[in-house]
Amino acid sequence: MQTDIEIASQVKMKPIEEIAKILGLKEDEWEPYGKYKAKLSLASMDRLKEREDGKLILVTSINPTPAGEGKSTVTVGLGQALHKMGKKSVIALREPSLGPTMGIKGGATGGGYSQVVPMEDINLHFTGDIHAITTANNALSAFIDNHIFQGNECGIDARRIVWKRVVDLNDRALRQVIVGLGGVKQGVPREDGFNITVASEIMAIFCLAKDLQDMRTRLSKIVVGYTGDGSPVTVADLGVEGALTLLLKDALMPNLVQTVEHTPAIIHGGPFANIAHGCNSLIATKMASKLGDYAVTEAGFGADLGAEKFLNIKARMGELDPKVVVIVATIRALKMHGGVPQTDLKEENIQALHEGMANLEKHIETIQSFGLPFVVAINRFVTDTDQEVNALKTWCSERGVKVALTEVWEHGGAGGMELANQVVALAEQDSSSFQPLYHVKDTIQDKIACIAKKVYGAKNVNYTALAKQQIEEIEANGWSDLPVCMAKTQYSLSDDPKKLGRPVDFTLTVSEFRPSIGAGFLVALTGDVLTMPGLSKQPAALKMDVDDHGRAIGLF
Ligand code: ADP
Repeated sequence: MQTDIEIASQVKMKPIEEIAKILGLKEDEWEPYGKYKAKLSLASMDRLKEREDGKLILVTSINPTPAGEGKSTVTVGLGQALHKMGKKSVIALREPSLGPTMGIKGGATGGGYSQVVPMEDINLHFTGDIHAITTANNALSAFIDNHIFQGNECGIDARRIVWKRVVDLNDRALRQVIVGLGGVKQGVPREDGFNITVASEIMAIFCLAKDLQDMRTRLSKIVVGYTGDGSPVTVADLGVEGALTLLLKDALMPNLVQTVEHTPAIIHGGPFANIAHGCNSLIATKMASKLGDYAVTEAGFGADLGAEKFLNIKARMGELDPKVVVIVATIRALKMHGGVPQTDLKEENIQALHEGMANLEKHIETIQSFGLPFVVAINRFVTDTDQEVNALKTWCSERGVKVALTEVWEHGGAGGMELANQVVALAEQDSSSFQPLYHVKDTIQDKIACIAKKVYGAKNVNYTALAKQQIEEIEANGWSDLPVCMAKTQYSLSDDPKKLGRPVDFTLTVSEFRPSIGAGFLVALTGDVLTMPGLSKQPAALKMDVDDHGRAIGLF
């Protein structure tokens, strides 16, 4: 079997104007970015204001193994299958971050015969959006330090600056740093730190903004730190929201590419789902819905993270109306949840598979609690045995759960026809009664308890002394009516990455809050989750190189 990059590099891509044509875009509604990528202006949304939105399909999964369970692959494959059926489908995905690309997971452009191309560009610097976000984030850091250096008119307490610098890499050495060293002329020394760009509040704002003006308003509300008496200092106080908006204006135009079967795909914004809200930009999702009859999008990691936040945060803020959810499950991850070590996942083990299905069961319950119809997509690996696949199918049919075997990795859209048929049937029935799980006016503790109990299956929630104190501060500042963005490990339903399957009777510990007032949510950190990951002993980067013709090697 060929590698993803070998498959991708053999595809004869269509010039991007042909893909723009499939979408019916007018000449002034897109700008080419090289031959195979384009930036889309927001003008088409105005033109199509009155057009009924296409049906929005959300792809999520069970708790994954470190390699990922093929959500992007199934999202692309489903888009291709719908296209094959003659439906006008548009895929909306996140932009990959260089942290996982160089680190453990590899890229995020799908796999096998269900990929978006040019995968090499998309996985590396693409159209520079993530660099623009990094620059805007770090420009704000520079403005803060300069403000203090120049006399500190706002009275920012240098020990209470909450705005951190970012870089789009896994770099644990930067988690805590001291800036401003070197004497009087070099600035005011203070503790600082770096997050990965995809955890930046600017990334979240970028992905939740409705348009340029909304982004500007949200940027102005970012709280960068506090004064000596505890009053928040915002970007508006520093007067730099215009400069930040300017740095981001071109990036805010979504990127158009194609799949290996020439289905249109919009790739835009990329917050992680464990430490951020985990969905591509709202603008990209809305544009995909306006331009297509079917918009297929994904939310990161399992339904406990990406889908919960897609449904409780993004859909609420963006007034989205998802019609159907696809829950991706793999035999290998279910066996892992049933106790099989990662090294043995290729061997048949029906008993462990059965035990691991408890994890799938919990995610099914979660999606049901949002009032959404769903299909379980079995993302088949060549190592899965027929007995294993049949065991999972039987488990589903015994419970009246719709299930489709998908072989989109191996066969592209043709391998996803069963799934596409089921999705279309459910979407046409229009039986969704979607509702977010909590009200924003509930107390912070009630919102977190709702997610912890209904989505994670926790018994109760514990708060550290710091978190309790922060709740009081958040209430005093009048910020309690915001949704909560949980930061939690992706490997477990609990906050302990080692508790696989369906843990019960556990306590979730909230260690800290980070109010993201510009984004419009309160980040609640649980367990040991970090907003700047580190690299493993054998990062994916060790296999990467460039051949004599300048082509990438080892991008997986
Ligand atoms: P996720 O979106 O869940 O993180 P991806 O779609 O990015 O997962 O897939 C992760 C990796 O697994 C990719 O390298 C992809 O090529 C590979 N992969 C996905 N599905 C299959 C499959 N059915 N068989 C073999 N490899 C697969």
